[in-house]
Amino acid sequence: MSAASDLEFLRKIQRLLAEGEFVATYKFALLQALADLSVERALGPGRDRGLTLALADIADKFIEYYWRQAVPYAPDLDQAGILKQNTGRQAAVINAIVTIRGQYSGSIYLARRDALEWGRLLRSVITLIKTMPLWKLQVVGRSVDDFIYRQGQLDNGCVQLRPGVQSAFRSFHGLITNLIRGGWLSQVRRIAGNRDLLGERGDLAEFLFGSERRNLDGYRKVMRDYQSARCFYCGKPVRGAGHADHFIPWSRYPVDLGHNFVFSHPSCNNYKSDLLAHPDHLARWRECNLDAPSALSEAFNSSGLAHDVERSRFVAVWAYEQGEQSRAQSIKYEVSPDWKRTISTCEV
Ligand SMILES: [Zn+2]
Repeated sequence: MSAASDLEFLRKIQRLLAEGEFVATYKFALLQALADLSVERALGPGRDRGLTLALADIADKFIEYYWRQAVPYAPDLDQAGILKQNTGRQAAVINAIVTIRGQYSGSIYLARRDALEWGRLLRSVITLIKTMPLWKLQVVGRSVDDFIYRQGQLDNGCVQLRPGVQSAFRSFHGLITNLIRGGWLSQVRRIAGNRDLLGERGDLAEFLFGSERRNLDGYRKVMRDYQSARCFYCGKPVRGAGHADHFIPWSRYPVDLGHNFVFSHPSCNNYKSDLLAHPDHLARWRECNLDAPSALSEAFNSSGLAHDVERSRFVAVWAYEQGEQSRAQSIKYEVSPDWKRTISTCEV
């Protein structure tokens, strides 16, 4: 897209979020899913001709976002303490998730492994997406402006993004995520049934979307063993507990996926901060975590920790591509074009 069409895209996204009429929070989840999947898929060679996304993948994202929200807002509350995601009755997706959460002690990882139950949940969320947000998202007032995907055209259960949309989502992922989250927060606050509950606890954003302060202990232990208690960045032994560091920083892409973690000294982690690591580190990360992923995958499996090596790879490709475009500062160096050779054995 040109600079002018980039601006037009952002203006339209902003308008959808500000003016689209919704009673449930689904439009936020749908837009976030499209933005995230644009990052987690390879950008085809040459011009972006339009990414095809399976509804099943979009539904999977929906479940992931709502999973953490389908619990009581404060720990001492029962199910009546679950925040409403709809102005009337509770949103159907929350009810469906509450049931399956109960069966798997809250672990989305375990729920996903039950192909039968997960498949059932996916199918019900696909139906919901088809009947609700998919046709409503691009309606503003009385008109439809289907600038993201062609309205009403589902080929084999897939949504076809318009040419250039994947690139735009990749370029403005952080900005769009902030817009979506801001809108989602105010909608949850506006729902009358939530007002009493919201007095119970301070940080609604933290509850809805999580934060880096969450408990990463499981990942820390797996990576500590895997790296023989040595720091990923400086190679020296770590005497204390050490840190699980998001190799692609959480601030750039807020998702916890096993292969994206490295074990490090707290000081090395703090030094890296929210920056992208130097391409030399990137090369080692790929070698250690991506190229021979099975040992790590098994360790994550036995600890019940989420992981997806290909998603981690695509997110890293995207992050370094963005870093290069914005000339990001990396540890001590600027991102150099070498990352392209470094990160991926496939085309980037
Ligand atoms: Zn270190």
